[in-house]
Amino acid sequence: MEGIKDIKELLSKPKLISLIAHRNPDGDAIGSCLALAKYLEKFGHTSNVIMPSEHPSVFSYLAGVNEISVYDLNRELAIEKLEKSDIIFCLDFNALDRIDTLGPTIQFAKGKKIMIDHHLDPEPFADYYLSDTTASSTCELVYKFIEMLDGKDKIDVEMGECILTGIITDTGSFKYATTPDVYRIASELKVLGVDDYKLQNFIFNSLTEKQLRLLGHAINNRMEIMKEYGVGIVVLNKYDFEEYQISRGDTEGIVNYLLMIKDVQVAVFFRQQPSIIKISFRSKGDVSVQELARDHFRGGGHKNASGGAAYGGLNKVINTFKEQVPNYFSKLEI
Ligand code: 5GP
Ligand code: MN
Repeated sequence: MEGIKDIKELLSKPKLISLIAHRNPDGDAIGSCLALAKYLEKFGHTSNVIMPSEHPSVFSYLAGVNEISVYDLNRELAIEKLEKSDIIFCLDFNALDRIDTLGPTIQFAKGKKIMIDHHLDPEPFADYYLSDTTASSTCELVYKFIEMLDGKDKIDVEMGECILTGIITDTGSFKYATTPDVYRIASELKVLGVDDYKLQNFIFNSLTEKQLRLLGHAINNRMEIMKEYGVGIVVLNKYDFEEYQISRGDTEGIVNYLLMIKDVQVAVFFRQQPSIIKISFRSKGDVSVQELARDHFRGGGHKNASGGAAYGGLNKVINTFKEQVPNYFSKLEI
C-alpha cells in the first residue's frame, strides 16, 4: 500500500479517529469498522464508528455495535465527530454519494482520509488508498492492513468475529469472490478461536416467520423470468411493503434466490419505497451487472453484485431495465 510508512507515522501517537462506512451498512461495512476501531483503541487512539443509517438487527451480536453513532438519529453529533477527527477511515465505500449528505462533511473535513475498500472505480477524495477490487471484502483488507502495520498479534476473538462476519456475508458463505487469502484468513481466525459455526447461525438462521413468508410471496407471486436472456426479476411493490410490514433488512438476500435457477445469469430485485425505487443486481461468472447499474440506475458496486436506485413509476423503471437488457447481456444459446 502506498503511504503505509506515513500512516504508521500518523498512528504512532494517540489520535482522534472516526471510521465510517456506507449507508444501509451490511456485515462487511459494520464488521470492518468495528474490527479496525477496536484495533486502534489498543494503541491508545480514540475511535468513533459512524454509520449514515441504522444497521440490520441481525448484526447486534458484534462487539461494539451499541457504541456506533448513527447519523440519521443524531446528525449534529456525527458531523461534530467527523469534523474534529485527526484521521477518518472510509471503509467499504468508494464514492461520497454512498454516505448521503455526509459527503461534503467528509470531503471538507480536516482529518487525513484513508480509504479501505473493494468496490470498482474509487473516487479521488482520500489521502491514502487500500483499494483492491479483487478482495472478497473490506474485512479481508482490514485484516491485511493490520498485517501491514505489523499488528496481527493484537487481533482478538471479538475483532476476529467482526472480520469473519464481513468475509462470510460478502462471499455469500464462501461461494463467490473467494481467493486463497480468504481461506487463509478464515483459517487463521479459526485458529485464534473464532467460532464460524456460531457466526453462520447468527447470520443465516435468524429470519422471522414474517421474513420467510415474504420470501415465499416474492418467489411465488412476484417473480418473472426473461428466458431468452436468462434474466430473473423480482418486484416488491408498495402494497407488498404494507401487507408484509416490510422494514429495513427484511428483503436482504431475496435477490440471490433467482440465481439458483440454472439458466438465470442475471438477477434483479426492485423495491418500491416511498420516494425511490431501490434495485439490487446480481450475476454469475463473467456476466457483469456493474455497467448497467452505473449507466442507468445511479449505482454500481461489483461485477457480480451491484445496487442502484431510480425515481419514477415502478412500471416505468422496470421497463427501462427490460429495454436495456439486450444492450448489456447476450442471448442464451439454447
Ligand atoms: P445490495 O444490492 O446488496 O444493496 O448491494 C450490492 C452491492 O452494490 C454492494 O456491494 C453495494 O456496495 C453496491 N451498491 C448498492 N447500492 C448502491 C448504490 O446506490 N450506488 C452504488 N455505487 N453502489 C451500490
Ligand atoms: Mn463490502
